[in-house]
Amino acid sequence: MHGKERAIIPVLERSVGVRCNFAAHLNTDAFGTFTGEIPRVLSPLEAARRKCELCHLETGADLVLASEGSFGPHPIVGFFPVDQELLLVKDFRNETEIHVSHISGATNFASAEIKDESALNDFLLNCGFPSHGVIVRMNHEHETKFLKDIADREIFRKLLNEKGSLHLETDMRAFRNPTRMTVIQQTAELLAERMKSLCPSCSVPGFGVNYAVPGLHCSSCGSETRSILKNVLGCISCSYTEEHYYPKGKKTEDPMYCDICNP
Ligand SMILES: [Zn+2]
Ligand SMILES: [Zn+2]
Repeated sequence: MHGKERAIIPVLERSVGVRCNFAAHLNTDAFGTFTGEIPRVLSPLEAARRKCELCHLETGADLVLASEGSFGPHPIVGFFPVDQELLLVKDFRNETEIHVSHISGATNFASAEIKDESALNDFLLNCGFPSHGVIVRMNHEHETKFLKDIADREIFRKLLNEKGSLHLETDMRAFRNPTRMTVIQQTAELLAERMKSLCPSCSVPGFGVNYAVPGLHCSSCGSETRSILKNVLGCISCSYTEEHYYPKGKKTEDPMYCDICNP
């Protein structure tokens, strides 16, 4: 519903050699909205699966892609906000699925209670308005309403003067957030690579990193850091796995990233 196909389809058509049709009429907002009018109760992977199933039922297509984004503090490091994008391809004919997820610190994700014009100007500037959308959350007694798709900063100024304070949040819908669109495109590149990677044992496509194991040793004190020691690669169909040590090419970690040397 939010134009993500513009970031995904060209990558897959170029890189994987598939021809994509876009299911424009599906109401994927039914699985939850960022602003919470419809709560997001499913995990991103489960929500993407439901979207694929809906598309499969409605269109009869047997190779279906869906995407899910989520925003919040970095899942391991915390502190700073990240954009976590997930892409899932479900093959209904062979009953397999391939998914990739990509975490990027490149996001404008933010919200703030604005009380004066200088704070308003700062928020709009930091969010990249007007190329990036900004939403006003209006809390009424019994319901919450959202003003979306505001194109003119004068409207924010008028509302602020009227109400005395405004709750603003960044619009994370892809078509109002070019920064997110770029992260979705990067995720599509990762998916394309994975779709082209065949299992060395059974040749089914989708071989790739299943999970990463932290514990790269510090070059100074030798203790385990939170950096990745090895990736465990797996097949989506058979039980074949491989362990790839030192994925960044370094056998030790800089003491700067060591919790003992640099607490
Ligand atoms: Zn150390
Ligand atoms: Zn295999």
